[in-house]
Amino acid sequence: MAKVELRNVRKSYDRGKTWAVNNVSLEIADGEFMALLGPSGCGKSSTMRMIAGLEEISGGEIYFGGQLMNRVKPSARNVAMVFESYALYPTLTVYENLAFPLRSAGVKGDEVDKRVRAIVEILQCEDLLDLKPFNLSSGQSQLVGLGRALMRQPNVFIMDEPISHLDTRLRSRMRSYIKRLHIDLGYTMLYVTHDQEEAMALADRIAIMDVGNVVQIGTPQEVFHQPASVYVAGFVGEPPMNFLDCQAEHKNGGYQLSYKGHAMPLPDDAAALAQRQAIPRDVVVGIRPFYIDVAAERSARHTTPAEVFVVEPMGDSTVISVNAQDTRMQIVVDPATAASSGDKLWLALEPSHILLFDKQTGARLS
Ligand code: ADP
Ligand code: MG
Repeated sequence: MAKVELRNVRKSYDRGKTWAVNNVSLEIADGEFMALLGPSGCGKSSTMRMIAGLEEISGGEIYFGGQLMNRVKPSARNVAMVFESYALYPTLTVYENLAFPLRSAGVKGDEVDKRVRAIVEILQCEDLLDLKPFNLSSGQSQLVGLGRALMRQPNVFIMDEPISHLDTRLRSRMRSYIKRLHIDLGYTMLYVTHDQEEAMALADRIAIMDVGNVVQIGTPQEVFHQPASVYVAGFVGEPPMNFLDCQAEHKNGGYQLSYKGHAMPLPDDAAALAQRQAIPRDVVVGIRPFYIDVAAERSARHTTPAEVFVVEPMGDSTVISVNAQDTRMQIVVDPATAASSGDKLWLALEPSHILLFDKQTGARLS
């Protein structure tokens, strides 16, 4: 196990004409579970492959436990990797698949058996040992793949979208399984995913990437409640945060917010923001779907008019999509709320959950 550090790491596949990884700096503490989250093509796998030593580092430094890794061979880095397409040896039994990394590292007889049994106990897959890979379900294959990666007690454990091809139910089972594995084994883990829910559920901290750059690093709570930008705010959370283009007007030391001529409530930190004159004229109001209340009539709180587009009953909650003038918003309400397509509603945004962003830069105003 080791602390992992990336300092200004870059990757170009075409000698500097374009950058797949532009500038990534990260510190993953010994034993920490860090998720690397971002859309497809933003440079997650390139970053992982540089850490594992499978890809040359175009710029910057990578350290394990304070030791520079840039010129260290992959085999000497002792990084375990699990990919989405993790191929087991088709002609070997599960037992032999698990034993393989040890045998090829020169570990002998009894010791191999002891280590295989230990991993099998953690994975609770004794009943699979004599099977060949073609007899395994996709979940079982992935479990054995995980087990095989763990055999050599790695310094760093990297998983690159390991469960994204599994169906929803199996994915959530494997997810809690991976989380428990980390708690039991305490490895330094790096987990790549484009699925924000997976990152939120698993990681101690999440590094969010946007085209080659890390744009925010924080705990799931931090990236959810204090997103650094519209990009992060929109990426994390389901249904996603709603955004309204608003105008801020300064008035006697304070300011007022309006959305297409309708007054908007001010966020709780409005006074502090106004005092520092930190509000540009064009702002984006961000509000999560859980923090909007709906009413049939206008009231002191319900000041934003909207029309119901569709209503989606989820059982324990209901999602209402509305058009607030030309902006589509999603609202999560109690299933007892009566609403149907075409209804006129009034929305109340909870001031303690309103976030403000600079329309021009996308940065959160705080
Ligand atoms: P992610 O894992 O986030 O989807 P990747 O690291 O795979 O992103 O890719 C980042 C960018 O680098 C993409 O534009 C991709 O096309 C490019 N890329 C990845 N691998 C190679 C490669 N071996 N050669 C050339 N371009 C590559
Ligand atoms: Mg990838």
